[in-house]
Amino acid sequence: MHEWALAESVIKSAVEHAGTEKLKKLKETGVVFGELQAIDKEIFVFALEELRRQFPAAAACKFKIILEPATFRCKACTHEFPLKGLRKTKDEAEFIHFVPEMAHTFLKCPKCKSPDFEIAKGRGVHISYIKGDR
Ligand SMILES: [Zn+2]
Repeated sequence: MHEWALAESVIKSAVEHAGTEKLKKLKETGVVFGELQAIDKEIFVFALEELRRQFPAAAACKFKIILEPATFRCKACTHEFPLKGLRKTKDEAEFIHFVPEMAHTFLKCPKCKSPDFEIAKGRGVHISYIKGDR
């Protein structure tokens, strides 16, 4: 059910954005979808398409999903590195997806070998842009 709640909040904030930009009808909304996301993308997209009907300004809006790859930032040397290429086994990769905090157990900064890093990109879902008619 998390997908539906998330889809609803995305539509609500798109409609809000449209309001501040004085757009009457939303045509397209770009939704950035982080790779480290424990939600089902297909259900999320389905929920967007179902729920948009409840919002007159978003009823005909197309939602474009922009996938954002996961990137980590080393706290010791500020080097940024992507999750891709660092994966050891499939099981570990799956685990990292669902519990990003556990990435520390498996990953180290490729530059300075520090295990102290934070997630720079690839978490959460947010609106990238909106397009519409005034
Ligand atoms: Zn480092």
